[in-house]
Amino acid sequence: MSAPTIDPTTTTTRTTETTVGTGGRPVIELDGLTKTYDLGSVSVRALDGVTLRIGEGDLVAITGPSGSGKSTLMHLLGCLDVPTAGSYRLAGHDVAPLDPDALAAVRNRHIGFVFQQFHLLATLTAWRNVELPLLYAGVERGERRERALVALDRVGLADRAGHRPGELSGGQQQRVAVARALVTEPELILADEPTGNLDSASTAEVLGLLEDLHAGGRTIVLITHEPDVAARAERTVVIRDGRVHHDSGAAAGAGPGPTADRGVVRP
Ligand code: ADP
Ligand code: MG
Repeated sequence: MSAPTIDPTTTTTRTTETTVGTGGRPVIELDGLTKTYDLGSVSVRALDGVTLRIGEGDLVAITGPSGSGKSTLMHLLGCLDVPTAGSYRLAGHDVAPLDPDALAAVRNRHIGFVFQQFHLLATLTAWRNVELPLLYAGVERGERRERALVALDRVGLADRAGHRPGELSGGQQQRVAVARALVTEPELILADEPTGNLDSASTAEVLGLLEDLHAGGRTIVLITHEPDVAARAERTVVIRDGRVHHDSGAAAGAGPGPTADRGVVRP
């Protein structure tokens, strides 16, 4: 018996069978996802049995108070950490059997990350920051530069390609981070409090970019504790004490659906 595998060695960037739209085939399927942090004498149950399905092309806001488990969920969704219990199927494939190298490859090829603190490298210019995921993916230099410049153009920063983060505003730095998230053309973009450090004008710009990416067919999970930011998403999932407290999409196409094997995920 052979389990379906996510093969990190193939080079195709998108599956050819991709369809786009709200409530499409599941990209994310969580079943009883639980995460306990063991702190010696005490353990903290940060996630307590989260069951959730997010379809291809969805834009979902995950919201809830500070400490409710949002970032823990983002780390698990992004294969940056592994659950204590429960399962996570990404594009139809259980990620549990994957070793750290395979998880790194899945992250690199399938997922784009945007963080509150931008996480840009201060010594590198904008385009050098944006090309990094392509460098890790083994893309050749000329193509890296070309694709980085295209991505910067998509976020309206073609004229800032040679600037270092310290020479850019917070909003511009976050747009560089969005360019870095999309340069590999990932199916899934995970954004954890992407507007948390931005003024209202920059917040509107970054949310506009995420909405453009959603319109282009990307699946986007937007984590935010700001109700007005969450309100921009078509579906809102509220997390409280590590559990799904409310899911506005629970009745509309977000429930249990086909989980049949869709073949090898081609990173
Ligand atoms: P949120 O992002 O919603 O603010 P987190 O996922 O960061 O929530 O945290 C959820 C709970 O897990 C909190 O009680 C937090 O203190 C705890 N927690 C988060 N990360 C760790 C960690 N690495 N070690 C121990 N406890 C953690
Ligand atoms: Mg958080």
